[in-house]
Amino acid sequence: MAYDPNNIFARILRGELPCDKIHEDDFALAFHDINPQAPVHALVIPKGAYVDMADFAANASDAEIAGLSCAVAETARALGVEEAGYRVLTNKGADAHQEVMHLHLHLFAGRPLGPMLDGGDIPPDGRFKRE
Ligand code: 5GP
Repeated sequence: MAYDPNNIFARILRGELPCDKIHEDDFALAFHDINPQAPVHALVIPKGAYVDMADFAANASDAEIAGLSCAVAETARALGVEEAGYRVLTNKGADAHQEVMHLHLHLFAGRPLGPMLDGGDIPPDGRFKRE
């Protein structure tokens, strides 16, 4: 999939849309999710134009890849959740319900987060629908 430079996170990176910033460095920007799924729900995004983790792994430089993982740790530190713990995940593609086509890592924290995967549902394209 080609990268759409007008996706929401690209517009946040360009300063065209606001965000509640937590951390920023040369490689990444972290901000609070607009619709939090946990007491702490941050998004950490690379500054480069990558659709998802597969695009990032194939095309980002070693410095960008290292920079994004360091930014996740720095964001957790800034949020004060390092000691209690946190969960990081990224959605890629339809089965994972990726909505914004700029790579983003979700960072969840602030309470015990329960099992890693809770059930499942019908993907948007209707596959696996029970009759
Ligand atoms: P995805 O399903 O693509 O992994 O997650 C997209 C996330 O982006 C969702 O958790 C959604 O709440 C968040 N989001 C969508 N639009 C905005 C926005 O304009 N600002 C912020 N801060 N988060 C957004």
